[in-house]
Amino acid sequence: MAAGKLRYEHEEHEQRNLHKEIKVKLKDGVMRDALSRFVNEYPAARLKAYDNVVSIDRLRDDLRDMKEWTVDHIDEVADEFEASIKARGGHFFRAKDGDEVKEILLKICEQEQVRRIVKSKSMATEEIHLNQALEEKGLHVRETDLGEWMLSVAGQKPSHMVMPAIHLNREQCAGFFSEELHEDVPSDIPYMIHTARRVLREEFLSADMGITGANFGIAENGAIGLVTNEGNARLVTTMPRIHVVILGYEKLIPKVRDAAKILRLLPRNGTCQRMTSYMTMVDGPTPVIYEKDGQLVEEERKQYVILLDNGRLRAAADPKLKQVYQCVRCASCLNVCPIWTLVGGHVYGHIYSGGIGAILTGLLNNMESFSQFSDLCIGCRKCMTICPGKVPIPDLIDELRSRYVKEHGLGLPEKTAFRHILTHRKVFHTLLRMGALAQKPVESGGFIRHLPLFFAGMTKGRSLPAIAARPFRDRTEELFRENPEKPVLRAAFFSGCNMDFVFPGTGESVVKVLQDLNIEVIYPEQQSCCGKPVLGTGDRETAKIIARQNIEAFEETKADIIVSACPTCAETLEKTYVELFADDPEWSERAKAFGAKVREFTSFVAECYRQAGRLMPTAGTEKVTYHDSCHIRRGLGVYKEPRELLKAAPGVDFVEMKDCDKCCGMAGAFGVKYSEISLPMLKEKVNNIKASGADTVAVACPACLMQLRGGLDQQAPDIRVRHIADILAENIAAGHSQAESM
Ligand code: SF4
Repeated sequence: MAAGKLRYEHEEHEQRNLHKEIKVKLKDGVMRDALSRFVNEYPAARLKAYDNVVSIDRLRDDLRDMKEWTVDHIDEVADEFEASIKARGGHFFRAKDGDEVKEILLKICEQEQVRRIVKSKSMATEEIHLNQALEEKGLHVRETDLGEWMLSVAGQKPSHMVMPAIHLNREQCAGFFSEELHEDVPSDIPYMIHTARRVLREEFLSADMGITGANFGIAENGAIGLVTNEGNARLVTTMPRIHVVILGYEKLIPKVRDAAKILRLLPRNGTCQRMTSYMTMVDGPTPVIYEKDGQLVEEERKQYVILLDNGRLRAAADPKLKQVYQCVRCASCLNVCPIWTLVGGHVYGHIYSGGIGAILTGLLNNMESFSQFSDLCIGCRKCMTICPGKVPIPDLIDELRSRYVKEHGLGLPEKTAFRHILTHRKVFHTLLRMGALAQKPVESGGFIRHLPLFFAGMTKGRSLPAIAARPFRDRTEELFRENPEKPVLRAAFFSGCNMDFVFPGTGESVVKVLQDLNIEVIYPEQQSCCGKPVLGTGDRETAKIIARQNIEAFEETKADIIVSACPTCAETLEKTYVELFADDPEWSERAKAFGAKVREFTSFVAECYRQAGRLMPTAGTEKVTYHDSCHIRRGLGVYKEPRELLKAAPGVDFVEMKDCDKCCGMAGAFGVKYSEISLPMLKEKVNNIKASGADTVAVACPACLMQLRGGLDQQAPDIRVRHIADILAENIAAGHSQAESM
């Protein structure tokens, strides 16, 4: 297929049905196989590329600091880059958007009588749909990166920023080649590469213009850097008589030495190489010397550089959004994203995919698209552990969500649920109590295993938890009779909705473990939801109402500490409330004082046990594995303590499982709203639990407890799922606490 007939899967004006597209992608066996192979190999291969590096984190800090400085001085860096380009004999333009790039470029093509163009390495041109515009003017345009060329032949767009054709297998590629070249191309990779080389060589030789992007542009000397594995970019920059560079402001760096800060990380994270096969620096138009009629001839070349804004300067001026400048487009965040690795890049609908793609789409394209694709970020924060530029992707997504909601408001269902129910604790809790009664016809043994009609999909492969007949808040009177007479501390328990209404027994366990530590436990009745589900939609105003209610409820108690056995609640209470009230002096102080008292249950108990000498590892026969919830591991940085508690628990033989910190697929409302994605994630988790040989999987998060209990109930009912609080409380009740096991 000629590039001019590109069949893009989604045009921007199209009305999208994301659920339908996701289901199609989940049935794409070729793509799923390719992605799962890649995902399994990527983490170890990446780390191997760093095996001669003392501290990856220091390299990441260096890169982030350099990018932070650059964005804070973006105007002067851009001016210096312009001056350096001109001093080297290049022509320089600034374009405010894609239309201006096209206008500038078409004028150059007209002046220079350009007919044929070869391209390489340019996402910015994909972002502005340059190829279509050039082809509509009758210009012949060829992509020359192997993956990009193959996709243009197939009439598809890239699904990954570094490996654009990762979703295809070689048989499919051979089919597209055969169709394009009208010859039978076998599915043999060396043969296909040879064929591509043969065809593209003709393109290089006959091209008038080469267009590239840049991995970086250096202000100090006007050089642009291209990091590739194929060498075609070098041909694109040198063979045609004109070289055009189209790069965004975020690619600028101040000094030559700063290039090293990118080069130490980009190949290692992007392609798991210490360095790519080609590292090309182009500083100014490069004259070409060749032999003609027995003489060496020097031929002049022209270079045009177009610096693209398209929303970038607005982002640079924004104190939060400027952090997107730290992105070097290595795509490693996609490689570890539990959603992207299931559904691939095409469902995101634009050139940039994954969480960073949703952000870039919002900043460079439109916020409507952002609001749709941002749903596909579950906030697991895995990307933040790996991103070379330390871009806080989930935080930026939250920020954009809240700005979108501020401008456009919430949909009616969310508005009703949040503004009119969650902010009124009594109404909310009354509805939950009514739900406990209404569920009776479909409830059995604490589960809802089958739902009728169009809800049926929600219980396919996962049972849902039933609402408890008697919530935690109705059990406190008898529980608190056991409070110690001379306590060492007074702890206020924040149960969260799950522990209050779904797992009240676990709430009881939390209280018993704390009482066993000679701590008095109290329960402020006015507490409500922590507000995380509301924050997840971007509705910060409603979240503030809820936060104030909770802060007030706990201030009255005069407790020494506030304990939560839900890491999502703990993170929200400790950190997010403080951020929410950053601009409100009175509530900021109250949120800080409140947050300073919050203690996540497992880390607090582990600390107490350690001080009491109760953390000695024991030998046991019950195989127990542990699933790290995203919020405890990456939100709170707690991962050693739950393991220490389990290893010290009598009778436990602790075993790790594969991908212990990969999201189980619950992620709040996501698990229900996108059950088509949540269920495969759960299945993978269940398989890893089974493969560990564990009899029990322990968790420290009630949301994960809910998801794993539901999954194991249907897929491996012999394996138990238990909150660590239940394991500890059971040991205390059995009279062989860790203290006695020593
Ligand atoms: S956000 Fe970070 S991990 Fe993702 S593409 Fe950019 S640099 Fe790479």
